[in-house]
Amino acid sequence: MSVDSQAVVEKNPYVLGRARVSLVEPVSPNFVRITFVGEDVDRIGNPGHTFDQRIKVIFPPASGTLPELAAGDDWYQRWTAIPEADRGAIRTYSIRDVRVGDGGATELVVDFVLHMVPGATGPASSWAAQAREGDEVLVVAPGRGRFDGGGLEYAPGTAESVLLAGDETAAPAIARILEDAPADLRGTAFIEIPTGDDVLPFAAPAGVSVHWLARDGADHGARLRPAVLDHLGSSEPVADVSGVDDDPDEPMVWETPIYSNLGEEIAPDPAPADRYYWIAGESKVVTGLRRHLVKEVGIARSQVAFMGYWRHGVAMKA
Ligand SMILES: Cc1cc2nc3c(=O)[nH]c(=O)nc-3n(C[C@H](O)[C@H](O)[C@H](O)COP(=O)(O)OP(=O)(O)OC[C@H]3O[C@@H](n4cnc5c(N)ncnc54)[C@H](O)[C@@H]3O)c2cc1C
Repeated sequence: MSVDSQAVVEKNPYVLGRARVSLVEPVSPNFVRITFVGEDVDRIGNPGHTFDQRIKVIFPPASGTLPELAAGDDWYQRWTAIPEADRGAIRTYSIRDVRVGDGGATELVVDFVLHMVPGATGPASSWAAQAREGDEVLVVAPGRGRFDGGGLEYAPGTAESVLLAGDETAAPAIARILEDAPADLRGTAFIEIPTGDDVLPFAAPAGVSVHWLARDGADHGARLRPAVLDHLGSSEPVADVSGVDDDPDEPMVWETPIYSNLGEEIAPDPAPADRYYWIAGESKVVTGLRRHLVKEVGIARSQVAFMGYWRHGVAMKA
């Protein structure tokens, strides 16, 4: 039997601590599933209420020694004040699973996409590709029993139906959302993955149909975009939404019912809508879908979350 994970309430919304690799599973050609444990891990996560909750992971610098970093509101400023060679690299990941076992021992599971770019592989992918039992990272993750730390964007409100769409980096969040969703949820999920062997089945509500779309060498978005537009009954030619500019100097698209980094005001819904849209993945692909859904299909912005999870040719800073 697992302990009541909600009985413990952390002092801070977030825990910043060490996480030790306990298991490395190469689950498909392009995904490695890594399980973390440790005293600090025992203080994080709210099983059953995770949805698309994100965490920050700090990977060790070349020396292999993780920086000393205590929790606190200004942790990010303190981390950036550490000399670059000593602070390691920070990236954002989704909680694929958080399990509390007997006595409160917790397992935190993250699915890492291995995007190996010859000569330009990022620190997160490099670390995940070589991770071994006992390796350590720092994680900044929601505190046990705390729901006020942000980082959770999935907000369907009273909508009874959802459309979830994303690429491989969004697959862990989509899987978690559907595993945590009520059993009577209806809807459709489209997940674009590098190859057909990257399908990672999960338990979705019976009323949600899940479609895995293998890219098989095509461009990012080449399968996702037409699938979403076709599903919405759009007559817009696919080519018209593929050439959208995504300025690498601008922040990646991030627009949810309560926040838009595009600087636009999001009006409250006049009436609760019955459908909610959640779209995440490569920034340009998401920007193109956003433009189409908002401007062409006329979906209320207060019913959508559009999130750039990564950007072609650009190393993430956080
Ligand atoms: C909220 C959120 C949740 C996320 N959840 C997950 C998750 O659960 N699992 C996961 O794997 N990723 C997830 N990501 C995406 C992940 O943070 C990025 O892919 C990140 O860039 C990986 O860091 P890196 O060090 O490997 O590469 P970087 O150093 O950031 O980039 C190096 C090079 O790799 C390229 N690159 C980065 N990502 C990809 C990719 N997916 N495919 C092809 N090329 C790429 C970049 O364009 C760049 O050229 C999430 C991102 C966000 C914002």
